[in-house]
Formats: sequence, C-alpha cells, structure tokens
Amino acid sequence: MKTIGVLTSGGDAPGMNAAVRAVVRTAIANGMTVKGVMRGYNGLIEGDIIDLNARSVSDIINRGGTMLYTARSPRFREEAGIIEGAEACKAAGIEGLVVIGGDGSFRGARDLSLHGIPCVGIPGTIDNDIACTDYTLGFDTAMNTAMEMVDKIRDTSQSHDRCSVVEVMGRHAGHLALQCGIAVGATAIMVPEVELSVEEVIARIKAIQKTGKRHFIVVVAEGVGGVEEIAKQIEAGTGVVTRATTLGHVQRGGNPTVRDRVRATQLGYAAVKLLQEGKGNRVVAIKNNTVVDYDIYEALNMKKDLDMEMYEIANTTSI
Ligand code: ADP
Repeated sequence: MKTIGVLTSGGDAPGMNAAVRAVVRTAIANGMTVKGVMRGYNGLIEGDIIDLNARSVSDIINRGGTMLYTARSPRFREEAGIIEGAEACKAAGIEGLVVIGGDGSFRGARDLSLHGIPCVGIPGTIDNDIACTDYTLGFDTAMNTAMEMVDKIRDTSQSHDRCSVVEVMGRHAGHLALQCGIAVGATAIMVPEVELSVEEVIARIKAIQKTGKRHFIVVVAEGVGGVEEIAKQIEAGTGVVTRATTLGHVQRGGNPTVRDRVRATQLGYAAVKLLQEGKGNRVVAIKNNTVVDYDIYEALNMKKDLDMEMYEIANTTSI
C-alpha cells in the first residue's frame, strides 16, 4: 500500500487529532503518502480530500475537536453512496483508509471494505460505548471535564445546602455517568442500564439526611433524561432546594488528557501497521491495556455491559 487516507466521522471526541497525527506520521515513516478526507464520509463522496505531510499535523496533539472536521452522512448509509465513496478513494489514489469514529462509522468502514477499499477503524467517542474495546478516545477527557464541572456545582450546592441534579452525556450508555458519579461522590447515579426510580433516589437522600448530610449530587445520564422533572420531584419529596444542570457539549471539547493522547497515538500507529500488512475490515481496540484488533463485523456484534461492580461500589461509598 503506497497511499492511505484518514477521516474522522460521527461525534467528535478529544484525542481524534492526536490519532490523525499518529496515523499521518506512522504512514510517512513507513514510506507511505497520506490524504486527509474532510468531514467524514460526506467529504469522501464529494472528493473533499487534502494532502497531508508530517508538518500538517504539527501542534494538534494537544487540541480537542478534529482538524479534519466531522459530519454525519446519510448518503453513505445507502449502497449508492458507498459505491461513490469507493470510487472517490480510487480517484484520489487512496488504497486503504483509517476511520476514526464510533459504531456507525465502523459500519461505513465495513461497507467500504466490502467494496474493495480496506479500512481500519479507531474507536473515538466520549461515551466509551463501543463493545470491542475497553477504552474509546475522548472518554477520559470527557470524564475529567464532567468531573470538574460538577466540582464547581458542588461548591455552590454545598454553600446553599442544595441538591444538584446534573445531566452528563450518554444517550444509550451510562459509562460516563457512572465514572463521573463515583469521582464526584454522587448520592445517586441514574443510568439507562439500571432501573432506579426517582422515589428510590428520594428515599436514599432522606436516609442520608438523617446522618447529617445537607447537600446532594445526583448524576443522570442523558439517556435517562428529564433532569428538570427529576429535580422538582426530589425537591417535593425531600424538602431540599434542588437545581438541575445539563452539562451538554462542554463535555465534547477541551484539550485531551494524557490518557487520550497516548491511546490515540498507540491506536493510530497500530491502524497504519495493519494497512501496511494489507489487512482491512479491522478495528483496533484496547483490551486489558493491550492494543488488539478485530474483524469489524465481529466487533460490531460484541456486547458491552455497564460495570455493575463499579455501580455497587458507587452506591456503597456514597452513604
Ligand atoms: P458514530 O460513528 O459516532 O457511531 P454515527 O452513527 O452518526 O456516529 O455514524 C457516522 C456515520 O457513519 C454516518 O453519518 C454514516 O455516514 C455512517 N454510517 C452509520 N451507520 C451506517 C451504516 N449502517 N452503513 C453505512 N454507513 C453508516
């Protein structure tokens, strides 16, 4: 393989830039030429492709977002769009493609591989909801951002003897809510994977009130939703003034942490090595602190559960 491409797709995540940098530099170091595909599969279909060299990716290892931009491409979900994408690769001389994104992006990468363009996926999403890997790029940065935000809310919540209900990202998965909840010592953590009624949260707060605690934090994953309503019910049920806060997109940005930069560099390096060996339709992943790779189809069929031992630890230590 002489020329490879790289794109970022789906939701952006801190660490994507560091991965792009690692892909570009590893490829160049191994005698390959690298093309950057702008705005995910949209840019591929439209032929929005740039040349990248080692200096094109200078000063991005420390930056959130993605220098290649990202997009969602409904056209790429159709057979016709995938054929256009494969043809665009051939026209640009791209013989293999690194796709940095989530499960949706990997589906696209699988389809493109089936159409003759070997692709390797790198897991990048702040939700850590990709089953084949213990870790996804952006998760650590997002957890730290959420934790810092809740720490600030905690200061005011404590001063006023209030309860704060904080919504963190995670539409389908509670990994971010769980880890953040533990890190801020949340009284209750509401996630999509665990049935926990507001009545149960109220009962928990009331029991803890009896021990003298007067301010509370409840972390709610986006997928559970309804934080305003939850706050109203908690206030009515406990008598504690309760405020709802939705952290929102602040969690998607910011300079990547050490962990995200290092993982991004390892995964970017591994992805290029696979393409160099002529391997496509693979996804690189972290398992037990080691870089591994899987067939994309196999990876997409894996399941990842919430760490229930962590959930138990959170409940035990927040009394
Ligand atoms: P993520 O990669 O973060 O899961 P999305 O689910 O939005 O984000 O997927 C990103 C892009 O991947 C989509 O806009 C689309 O272009 C492509 N994609 C998603 N699902 C499929 C699919 N089933 N087949 C082909 N391409 C897909």
